[in-house]
Amino acid sequence: MKRNVTFEEISDNKKYTHDDLAKISCNGCLNCHECCDFTDDTIHLNPYDIFLLSKNLNLSFEEMLGKYIDLTVIDYVVTPYLKKDESSKACVFLNSEGRCNIHTFRPGFCRMFPLGRIYEDDGDSFKYFIQVHECPYPNKSKVKIKQWLGIENISKYEEYVLSWHNILKNITECANDNPDLLNAVNTKLLSLFFVMPYSYEEDFYDQFKERLNTWSK
Ligand code: SF4
Ligand code: SF4
Repeated sequence: MKRNVTFEEISDNKKYTHDDLAKISCNGCLNCHECCDFTDDTIHLNPYDIFLLSKNLNLSFEEMLGKYIDLTVIDYVVTPYLKKDESSKACVFLNSEGRCNIHTFRPGFCRMFPLGRIYEDDGDSFKYFIQVHECPYPNKSKVKIKQWLGIENISKYEEYVLSWHNILKNITECANDNPDLLNAVNTKLLSLFFVMPYSYEEDFYDQFKERLNTWSK
């Protein structure tokens, strides 16, 4: 998603790889849960997030829809997001002790915070950056980014993130030229990458690649 701010305004003006140390660690967050409060529709979900949620909650995409997730449109692209609790207004997975009920399989968006990603224009790579105004914890310490993310097989994950980003970018770029096709494209995207169940026994990335081939045809 493109933001109307400059890189310098929101970052320390540095770009990081997963092997770099970044000053983002906030001591287990202690009693803070600020980034899980008032999430509205900001915790966007990609197919890997849905795969993990579905596998660990043992619910299909359709069973989660309306209960834990909902759909919005970002840059012309249909996008699932984590719902908020209607009374507390916090994320549906924030429990009464102020902790995350799905910590071990939380979405990529939550794993990254307060990091963001910045993509190169050629679509071939991306870097991480620190969103310096997002987390109020005062005395952060340094941590290696791949350790912060806690994602197995980080290189495969990043390759997948890049592919997914490029699919969404292409849809956005073509939306103005082909507005009549947009509904059909979004329907196919939703059905192919989110609604159609993934096998929990097989590697997610292999399944994603197969769907990518179908998508490109
Ligand atoms: S705002 Fe910072 S300290 Fe608070 S819960 Fe989020 S990451 Fe942790
Ligand atoms: S999934 Fe967990 S970490 Fe993410 S916003 Fe919800 S409660 Fe917070």
